[in-house]
Amino acid sequence: MQRIHLLSPRLANQIAAGEVVERPASVVKELLENSLDAGSTQLDIEVEQGGVRQIKIRDNGYGIAKGDLALALCRHATSKILTLDDLESVRTLGFRGEALASISSVSRLLLTSKFNKSDEAWRVEAEGKDMATAVKPASHLPGTTIEVRDLFFNTPARRKFLRTEKTEFSHLEEVVKRLALSRYDVGFRLSHNGKQIYDLRAVANQMSAEHRLASLLGKKFIENALTLDVEAAGLRLWGWIGLPTFSRSQADLQYFFVNGRVVKDKLVAHAVRQAYRDVLYNGRHPTFVLYLELDPATVDVNVHPTKHEVRFRDGRLVHDFLFSKIHRVLADVRPQSQDTADL
Ligand code: ADP
Ligand code: MG
Repeated sequence: MQRIHLLSPRLANQIAAGEVVERPASVVKELLENSLDAGSTQLDIEVEQGGVRQIKIRDNGYGIAKGDLALALCRHATSKILTLDDLESVRTLGFRGEALASISSVSRLLLTSKFNKSDEAWRVEAEGKDMATAVKPASHLPGTTIEVRDLFFNTPARRKFLRTEKTEFSHLEEVVKRLALSRYDVGFRLSHNGKQIYDLRAVANQMSAEHRLASLLGKKFIENALTLDVEAAGLRLWGWIGLPTFSRSQADLQYFFVNGRVVKDKLVAHAVRQAYRDVLYNGRHPTFVLYLELDPATVDVNVHPTKHEVRFRDGRLVHDFLFSKIHRVLADVRPQSQDTADL
């Protein structure tokens, strides 16, 4: 029999990384969420070789104080919640304090930041460790830059699961797309191997965001979508739903956000499917970009580490609200010819 011993922090972080850091796209998701939580209004994402060689994200958020830099890379270190009560109504995208610890345990990570209350910028470096080596002076505008190099360089078993550069980049781009659809008030710039992919300017009004939608999802979607904005029983639903004639053979143009968070939820999917049921042919999928807003206390986001699922306190109410509002909007365009309209 072996004796019991505690895992080293580094190994514990590498194991935890298995849950949240699957591929470059998951790194980008975590880093961008941190930047958004820090109140950034402009995000610059530079990626090399599908994100495997390097991911560099610069934001203009409130930054990290010198004394907190090393702590930011530690597991269970977060500035976002303090008590169990806070967890009941999280408004930030992150709260587990795991992302930076996990990412830094499986990559070479550089974290540079200028805290908004400080005149100086500082940098820490972590090379496959969970703790930074030393805090050094740096030069940086207000905000934070994180560079993640050589993802999985020290975990060959994980590296083997990475796909081609093209595939990894397309996953990564999808993550940026979703976040860009969740925050029209934030500018997003994305480049791959030095080539600019997007430069999305911040727009003031969400409903005037169609330019961004067209850049991300194609002009055709906007030309074939109905807008809606309805409120009832403390719930608000707004966004764009594709005409039944603009259905797809795959469920690949479906974006649903709950309080600004990207969500893939069975209850939501079911409600939308039901609403489209009598206007779509079997096997066709509706297209939509929808935003549901409700009291954060009535939805639990602490279901899964990647936070794609949520749990509604009153699922029935949410389901019926979604179904009836979407069904109503579609009723105005029924009956429709059932041409297919794949892009
Ligand atoms: P979480 O987001 O769950 O708190 P993370 O490991 O992602 O955990 O980040 C740890 C902490 O580091 C955050 O709580 C935040 O205080 C700080 N942090 C990370 N990224 C940024 C950033 N871009 N700007 C400001 N603070 C940041
Ligand atoms: Mg985070």
